[in-house]
Amino acid sequence: VTTEADLYTASDQIVILTPENVDRVLVNSTAAMAVEFYASWCGHCIAFSPVWKSLARDIKEWKPAVDLAAIDCASEANAPVCSRFGVRRYPTLKFFHAYSSDDTVGQVFRAISRDERGLRHNLIDLMETHKDPWPPACPPLETATKAEIDNIFENNNVEHLALIFETTNSYVGREVILDLLHYENLAVRRVLSTEEGLVDKLGVTDFPSCYLYTPSGNFTRLKVQNEARTFYSYALRALPGVMRSGKPTTVMSGIIENTTSDLWRQFNRSFVYMADLESTLYYSMRVEMASHPVIDGENLRSLKQYISVLAKFFPGRTVVRNSLISLDKWLSDQDTELSYSSLKNVLDNTAQVPNAAFPDTEMWLACQGSKPHFRKYPCGMWTLFHVLTVQAKDAAIKDRQEVLQAMRSYVHSFFGCRECATHFEIMAAESMSQVGKQNPPELWLWSRHNQVNNRLAGSLSEDPQFPKIQWPPPELCPSCHGVKANGEHTWNLEKTLTFLHFHFSSERLLSDYLE
Ligand code: FAD
Repeated sequence: VTTEADLYTASDQIVILTPENVDRVLVNSTAAMAVEFYASWCGHCIAFSPVWKSLARDIKEWKPAVDLAAIDCASEANAPVCSRFGVRRYPTLKFFHAYSSDDTVGQVFRAISRDERGLRHNLIDLMETHKDPWPPACPPLETATKAEIDNIFENNNVEHLALIFETTNSYVGREVILDLLHYENLAVRRVLSTEEGLVDKLGVTDFPSCYLYTPSGNFTRLKVQNEARTFYSYALRALPGVMRSGKPTTVMSGIIENTTSDLWRQFNRSFVYMADLESTLYYSMRVEMASHPVIDGENLRSLKQYISVLAKFFPGRTVVRNSLISLDKWLSDQDTELSYSSLKNVLDNTAQVPNAAFPDTEMWLACQGSKPHFRKYPCGMWTLFHVLTVQAKDAAIKDRQEVLQAMRSYVHSFFGCRECATHFEIMAAESMSQVGKQNPPELWLWSRHNQVNNRLAGSLSEDPQFPKIQWPPPELCPSCHGVKANGEHTWNLEKTLTFLHFHFSSERLLSDYLE
């Protein structure tokens, strides 16, 4: 028995169509829609679903202009919908223009080449077939002329204008325009190499290349490591004042300024701070754990594993390490259950153990948020486990795997955000068993964290000062990023691993504000 959610789930950034929502999604929508009609038993559809998912992740920022959907035609309930749109072969891809009427059956399309890149390009071509009305959230995709650029600041109240110079067969300009469509204080336009007035004025010789143009008529070339879509998008998002729309504009720089009523502590984004790791320990043991009056069974095992991994690998001050070791020892004697009050007692009394002290306050630094409800503990939790996986890098593989296992079971048993815990458990169940020497824990955690960043980009929990990007950005680790011959972005996993070992190493941890 199959269900409509067989190949896709709600977290795939794909709208799952049903008889109930199909009209709402496809008819008179302000966004264009690209729909995959599939049958969950069909081998081609199963093979194609990772491409559709990956495309959905890749163009998630294009959403208000064009969105992806899928419907399982193998489900009896959905059959009338598939028949209404004349679909008999699977998978069939259909494009629905914005503001389609209820008798529209959609336009069949294929990938120019049967991969994500080809599909993306084809979608852009289809978007451009919109006449009137143009999808309101879609910025202009056509090429700009010199006359238009000369007047652009009169008609647009933007701080930055980025011009992407490219040849006629290039999609880079349109891709970057769509990648940045959620961002304010920036307009992106594309200019063809044949637009001699502008090409000559700016002395452009490379295609593609990107120039920033200011209202005073000055221009500078955008410095990127590779002249390719992803590098332009990273660099433009990081420009001062460029901010996801609907979020307050504040200064963005390496050193962040205070925007909360709390005391703001300056920090450098390129470093990891011990204060965040200690605050995470404090919060997890003093606040999160406190909501479990009795800890037994699986939860007790999770707690023991968490503390045991911390006792082995937490690269903290000697007093904190001693308190973790003493707590680990105490826990190993607790067999069936313990009350939180007895645990609290031990935490309170670590001060009496010679040369030991458990962190006694929360003081966030690189995990501060621009508003009180942003960041802090979840940021600390990620950071703590990145540090622990790196600390364990030279240990036996069994011990390295145990670090991830400790995170998995801690999150499962205690992490207060239950939705987060469910998602994390799904990711862990899918792939954590493949972690080993060839597929090290540090890289697994890095890539899953990026998967979460991808899902949460633009969500309410995103701090506008700390947009959820695929991390590390090229400015932090140039060698982590590469491009294929066709301009598609790739991660250099070897260099990324080296970077993780450097960035999260205990030698680089900063102890500002601690003693
Ligand atoms: P965070 O994502 O918390 O990252 C902290 C720091 O780690 C960043 O500032 C950066 O320096 C570094 N970093 C970023 N990406 C990576 C990476 N790929 N590898 C290594 N370092 C990196 N929130 C939800 O709304 N829904 C969820 O389902 C959800 N699931 C979560 C699951 C877990 C296990 C955790 C720990 C948190 C989860 N959260 C979830 C919270 C969310 O992921 C963020 O932690 C939170 O929104 C704070 O974001 P942040 O800007 O501080 O960056």
